[in-house]
Amino acid sequence: MISGEDLKGMGYFEMFDSNGDPKNAMALYSDWVEGKIMTKGVTRQMENTLGLVGEAGEVAEKLKKSLRDNTNLDVQDMKKELGDVLFYLAALANLYQSSLQEVAELNMEKLNSRQKRGKMNGSGDNR
Ligand SMILES: [Mg+2]
Repeated sequence: MISGEDLKGMGYFEMFDSNGDPKNAMALYSDWVEGKIMTKGVTRQMENTLGLVGEAGEVAEKLKKSLRDNTNLDVQDMKKELGDVLFYLAALANLYQSSLQEVAELNMEKLNSRQKRGKMNGSGDNR
């Protein structure tokens, strides 16, 4: 069996938490995001949700301008906007006592189930 120390040696984990357990990059990022949050309670919920929607809109806006102006999409700028989306996604996952890891796993489980049942097309959250 591979131990946490083995994984650390392989560079898989960058840090350990206060209990000495290894933390993955997503957990480290989520902790870092939490340290940047400036609002609390319902204000935080609204600010983080609106932030996610706003940053997703900035992703769309970059593509729109590239198409409208017939210019190359600046991939570096797009990566920065995707990072802004990730920030608010992590903030919301933290707010709902979840994590990027859990959100990713739930999404994979949902989409794998849909694919297995031939339900990738169509609409509805719970198909
Ligand atoms: Mg942005």
